[in-house]
Amino acid sequence: MTAITNEKLRDRLLQLKNSGFKNPKIVGAGEAFHYTPHGDKIRRTGRFFGIPVDRLLHATQKHPVSVPATDPNGVVYAYQRMAAALEEGLDFEIFKLKYRCAITAFQPMDAVNVARTDPDKDSQILILAQNIESFASIGDARDHLAPDQVPIIKTGFIAERPSDMVFCIREAAKLRQYVAQLSHAWVSFTPSERIATSIQRNANNHPFALVQGDETSTMLLTREVLYQDGREIAGWGDGSRRQAVVSIQKLETYMQANGENRSVDTTIHEWLHSIYGIQVRGTPVPNPDDDQKYKYPGAYGADRATGQREGWRRWYEAILTGQQHAAAPTGR
Ligand SMILES: [Zn+2]
Repeated sequence: MTAITNEKLRDRLLQLKNSGFKNPKIVGAGEAFHYTPHGDKIRRTGRFFGIPVDRLLHATQKHPVSVPATDPNGVVYAYQRMAAALEEGLDFEIFKLKYRCAITAFQPMDAVNVARTDPDKDSQILILAQNIESFASIGDARDHLAPDQVPIIKTGFIAERPSDMVFCIREAAKLRQYVAQLSHAWVSFTPSERIATSIQRNANNHPFALVQGDETSTMLLTREVLYQDGREIAGWGDGSRRQAVVSIQKLETYMQANGENRSVDTTIHEWLHSIYGIQVRGTPVPNPDDDQKYKYPGAYGADRATGQREGWRRWYEAILTGQQHAAAPTGR
């Protein structure tokens, strides 16, 4: 087995039109930041292994960090800027790498990084493992962030009727998972389920529950038919009261048409209304209906259940990573 060289790797990236990497260039010695969940393994073996080049080129849109890399001639991913490595997730350990030579390439379709648009600053560094001169852990990503950049949000998931408690627990778990997925750990969200003790009414006569204890907001699950301007609605959220309400029947109908897990399309939207203004990474949560103002195409006015779902997902992801001010993704 002959070790792959930077020249060969660059040429392969250039040959593959859809490799996902733009403008690969060979560069000399430098430093870069690598994020990994496998810090212990790296310390134990005392060296870095990489992703085999073939696998890299076949799955460039996937995160190559889920299993420890094993190829001594493989590619190790890193970023030039520490901030970019931090953004991959707060639980990852960050290593500073010194390399003898590497390839820089821009990955415009990197799904996590809708905001990374500057090829000079935001390029990925692809380092062949044998070209790593030295490395040092600089701790977990969260150690490098101000704590107030990650809001702790507790939302009471409230079943209006005790018989809907199981439904309520399930919806809470689904939303928790969806928020974890979209926020890349920039938001700490915990739902806590309870049965309604008292129901209030807002000016539109929607029922809601007051926050209790250390709850940040509430999400009431009701069987009442909700109306707004004479039309039946799936839910309502209000940042000024930190409350949201969703219709159980509407969620059930939606799940029958779109799948059991898609109820999050409704719950996340109303939940975002209810946490309006909370700071995520120094940026307040906007009105989730303002996607057009922020130039996220394919969200507002489109049916969340149809082909526009990706537009909504990207918009929510931008909100939950504090990136909605960045240029909206184009195409797709
Ligand atoms: Zn809305």
